[in-house]
Amino acid sequence: ATPTAIMVGTGLGAKRGVLFKNAMALETSARVQAVVMDKTGTLTKGEPEVTDLIADGVDEDELLRLVAAVERESEHPLAEAIVRHAEARGSGTSQAVKFVNVPGHGATAEVDGRRVVVGNRRLMEAEGIDLGLLAARRDELAASGRTAVIVAVDGRPAGLIGIADAPRETSAAAVAALHAAGVEVIMLTGDNEATARRIAEKLGIDAVIAEVLPGEKASKIVELQRGGRKVAMVGDGVNDAPALAQADLGIAIGAGTDVAIETADVVLMRSDPLDVPTALAIGRGTLRKMR
Ligand code: ADP
Ligand code: MG
Repeated sequence: ATPTAIMVGTGLGAKRGVLFKNAMALETSARVQAVVMDKTGTLTKGEPEVTDLIADGVDEDELLRLVAAVERESEHPLAEAIVRHAEARGSGTSQAVKFVNVPGHGATAEVDGRRVVVGNRRLMEAEGIDLGLLAARRDELAASGRTAVIVAVDGRPAGLIGIADAPRETSAAAVAALHAAGVEVIMLTGDNEATARRIAEKLGIDAVIAEVLPGEKASKIVELQRGGRKVAMVGDGVNDAPALAQADLGIAIGAGTDVAIETADVVLMRSDPLDVPTALAIGRGTLRKMR
């Protein structure tokens, strides 16, 4: 690698808000064969909004009050969306006690003497709660690309909250550009399979790895690296940091968390997915000049 080629590549990146942290990052960019992208906050805006409220056996405001009481104790982006919605609607407030956060699943607490469980299907299974008639509604929400947050009260299903997080404007174009460069694109997410598939389909993504627990993302990268394949990981969250470190090339979204930015080899200052193919193109251009 000639120092001049590295300087030119780094400078070209900087001009476009693509920060290569070192010469290695630039060289590896040229060799990437597959790009793994986190869904929430990377392919999507990471601004979840409540779109559906389905109450079963309780009224809607009651449901929202119970759920918001639990989610007020949580820092999850889905929890924040639910609390915001409850406040805007004026559903009233209660104080949760005995709050338990279940990473990758949801949360539980006691509200007004009732036990409230909020989260995904896996959490309901763990709690022995059968969705009954709500299962079909859950599937409908997921098939439309929304995340269905399931609510159970005192061991019985009480409702669903549909949450949408719109894709970033340039996500589909970024996937197309990566394909044009001969790079495979894979989505990696903790969200449920059907929701993830619907969004991946819209964006033209090749493969989906869903329902991945927070601690499992890095080992999914190891599997994709088998046979010496060069894998880049693009992410924004605290959860993504181990996967960013494991990947041959870690790429952080500039608007992401500090841990992601510190761990990555490349930072996209504009938080634009289109800068992923740009980064790889700069790497390839640099390598060509080095030969
Ligand atoms: P991601 O942010 O990639 O979706 P997480 O591991 O944070 O992954 O969460 C996985 C899933 O667990 C979420 O999609 C959601 O269904 C459920 N979940 C986690 N925390 C909460 C919460 N506080 N409230 C409701 N659902 C939750
Ligand atoms: Mg994310």
